[in-house]
Amino acid sequence: MKQIFLALILMHTSVLFGQEMNQGAVFNWPSDERLAVSLSYDDALASQLDNAVPALNRHGLRASFYILPNSAVTRLRLEEWRAMARQGHELGNHSIFHPCRASLPDRDWVAAHKDLDGYTAEQMKEELSTANTILYAIDGQTDRTLTPPCGDRLAGGEDYISLVSDLFVAIKPPKEVPGFSVTWSPTGVTGAELIDYVRQMEGQTRMVNILFHGVGGDYLSVESDAHEELLQFLADNRDRYWVDSFINIMRHVQEVIGSE
Ligand SMILES: [Zn+2]
Repeated sequence: MKQIFLALILMHTSVLFGQEMNQGAVFNWPSDERLAVSLSYDDALASQLDNAVPALNRHGLRASFYILPNSAVTRLRLEEWRAMARQGHELGNHSIFHPCRASLPDRDWVAAHKDLDGYTAEQMKEELSTANTILYAIDGQTDRTLTPPCGDRLAGGEDYISLVSDLFVAIKPPKEVPGFSVTWSPTGVTGAELIDYVRQMEGQTRMVNILFHGVGGDYLSVESDAHEELLQFLADNRDRYWVDSFINIMRHVQEVIGSE
């Protein structure tokens, strides 16, 4: 059973995106924590710099920020993103223009020139590669992870994810990877709901990806108090939960799997 899991990982050494993981995979987190928790913050929003980063730093917790080079908040607050990366947080690739498939339900908001259905997979690959270069100019890092905009994997009807796996250490799966991880984008939830979710997943999966957008502002947001309650809970239970950036968690998975 373990061998099958290893083979799956080795076949996809640089990418984990929705492919089936074998149930019962055997590997440990660095201090035998029961669950790895990756907190991420997408779209380069001001409330993340104003509220999320100070809260994370107060608790000594590292997270991942999937910023957009075309966002005004990236440009106007560039030194703050750079400083945050120096503090150990991850700047992740979320493309340059955030193209999403306009043909899917509830995608009326997608601008015509950012419609992923109108892209080609090669075009998306070039955009992501260029975003990596821009991020390198900001933080000096060469290794990168990707959170695909809207969790889409088709560009112009073609699977672009398989085309870009070489560009990334790992790619965030938009939904459950059985036996390995779950992904949740909470909005408007209480601190108790966030904590309950982490508690419920403990023992059911190995890793939880929590994707935030606004924190105490902006859109798809979670109130600062609720966010703070979750961080306090995670900081109080470091023996059970390994909270780190997505890239650090995925590097650990690959190191462990690669060395066995
Ligand atoms: Zn996004």
